[in-house]
Amino acid sequence: MKPKSVKKAVVFKKDAFLRARGGYSRLLELSCEHCKGVLCLYQKDGPGILKRLYTDRMIPEPTRTAKQLVCEHCERVLGALITYKKEDRPAYRLFVGAVAKKIVKSQ
Ligand SMILES: [Zn+2]
Repeated sequence: MKPKSVKKAVVFKKDAFLRARGGYSRLLELSCEHCKGVLCLYQKDGPGILKRLYTDRMIPEPTRTAKQLVCEHCERVLGALITYKKEDRPAYRLFVGAVAKKIVKSQ
């Protein structure tokens, strides 16, 4: 018997924010461009480049939202907390070139 995959299933969030972006998502693995340490998974809704991380799309979702997004491996500051005004939604605005992303899964 082969051992079962231990890969954790990630369920995409489906809500008005997703519908506003065309209704499809990709799961990204985000890592620190400086030290290559993995930061988190992220549900990216719709097309376009990743400019900000909505905290409700980070996996795991942060339990408290710090003012800055900091790499837990090298402590480099990668982004700053903002409120995306159009949706009144907290997000980290990423600094250019701070975060690398890799597509894990599309839907
Ligand atoms: Zn780092």
